Amino acid sequence: MSLRYRTTLQHRYRAGEVPYVYATTTASILRLDAITEELLTSFDTVGGLIPEDYLESTPEEQRDEARGALDELVGLGLILPVGTEPALRPSTGAANYPLQTLVLNVTNKCNLSCTYCYEYGEDRLTEAPKLGAKARAPMMTSAVAQESVEFLFKTAAGRGPLTVTFFGGETLLNFEVIRSAVAKAKALADEKGRQVGFALTTNASLLSPEVVQFLIDHQFGVNISIDGNKDQHDRHRKFKSGRGSYDEILPRIRALLAARRPGGRPIGARVTLTAGQTDVIGIYRHLVSELGFDEVGFAPVTSAPGRDYALSPSNYAQVLAAFRELSDDWLESAFANRKHGFSNLNDLVRELHLGVNKAHPCGAGLGLLGVSTEGDLGLCHRFVESGKHEVGHVSSGVDETKRGDFLARGHISAKIDCHSCFARPVCSGGCYHEAYVRTHDETAPNLHLCDWIRSWTSLGLEVYGRVHARNPSYLDRLTGHDERLGLPRAVPMAEATELV
Ligand code: SF4
Ligand code: SF4
Repeated sequence: MSLRYRTTLQHRYRAGEVPYVYATTTASILRLDAITEELLTSFDTVGGLIPEDYLESTPEEQRDEARGALDELVGLGLILPVGTEPALRPSTGAANYPLQTLVLNVTNKCNLSCTYCYEYGEDRLTEAPKLGAKARAPMMTSAVAQESVEFLFKTAAGRGPLTVTFFGGETLLNFEVIRSAVAKAKALADEKGRQVGFALTTNASLLSPEVVQFLIDHQFGVNISIDGNKDQHDRHRKFKSGRGSYDEILPRIRALLAARRPGGRPIGARVTLTAGQTDVIGIYRHLVSELGFDEVGFAPVTSAPGRDYALSPSNYAQVLAAFRELSDDWLESAFANRKHGFSNLNDLVRELHLGVNKAHPCGAGLGLLGVSTEGDLGLCHRFVESGKHEVGHVSSGVDETKRGDFLARGHISAKIDCHSCFARPVCSGGCYHEAYVRTHDETAPNLHLCDWIRSWTSLGLEVYGRVHARNPSYLDRLTGHDERLGLPRAVPMAEATELV
């Protein structure tokens, strides 16, 4: 009996008038002609079709061409015998550990008291206060910072360029320790012939002239947390007194932006979107056109359900509509070979063009680890104060059993709900921290966000198709870090990926 064939997991869409398909298993994007489009439509049936029956039904003069196209689609894995869709490879465990980025939580103190903060807000993961155990040291010492840097160089021996990222609390409350860690990293890089880069996230309230000079001199990638104009920003980002922080940070941000050097690292804004705070276009224009930021990344707030700042489904719909509008702006820039500062879309299009196919959603516990103020290693910067998620210490190294267990549980093969989702290669279940505050299981897929993720991925695919049709070389420059576009050289901190 002849085998029946059917389409494998894929997403078909149009970019303008042009049909495309995104093949989930291989994370590849193909432009379709009339014959391949017709084949994919015909074979998209639950029970499948027998190829010879299908070919018999096509006009004779088109049969050879249809046969060739069918063979090609079978070769590409887009149409396969029913029941033979490639299985996901099981997790490879903890072998071949590619640590390249260490995120040092140099302090867990902050001079602001933002409503939605996961460090101080209701979604804090620290177990010590809840369990009545010893509280963590508020500040990392120089000794711990230097030991952390030594740990990174030792553990990542033989790997590519390294990144040391500083995080908090408010990172700049511990500027002297940042300075000592940078000096140590530079000395080790010189001694061992390695490359090392630095990044820092800050609320900008402590950006003094001395700090600005230091960041520029050492080519830091700087991310500033700012939520828009004064009204938008001050809504959640306040000092402990309740006073908004916008007026305090504005002149400091202007000084940093003015100190940028030609060809230096871009300076980015990181915006947290919350309920009632979804004016993406207005925020983008203020930050890029009025203040002069190079890039803006929008992050929907991470929260347990029920918080009054949590985004509702209708808020997510507003954000998506605004992202679509901003994507049109992005496309105009792409067609004109200009860089655009919409980081979320730069990152997504870059991943699609590279064919990224994630086995884990991000680099946490893999290419990236967080370090607590006391030197404990956590899955990422958001987990460093959670005893439950510790995976070792910088003095004794990684606890491979714990790390391996986490990576096996977080692998896409363990997320059954994701196996039938076309967006799997770029999502892979989503942020562990978000999952933990929602479900108390960091390796659970973020199923509350699926509609949003799929719509966003679909928008990214459409944008990709439009650029591909009109200015394909822009995609190579986007992924090849073309200096003319002024795009960052380093992979964003949370985006290190493992291929399936
Ligand atoms: S979490 Fe949802 S959107 Fe993400 S891969 Fe899984 S099913 Fe798809
Ligand atoms: S995406 Fe990954 S690295 Fe970023 S906060 Fe979530 S778990 Fe941590």
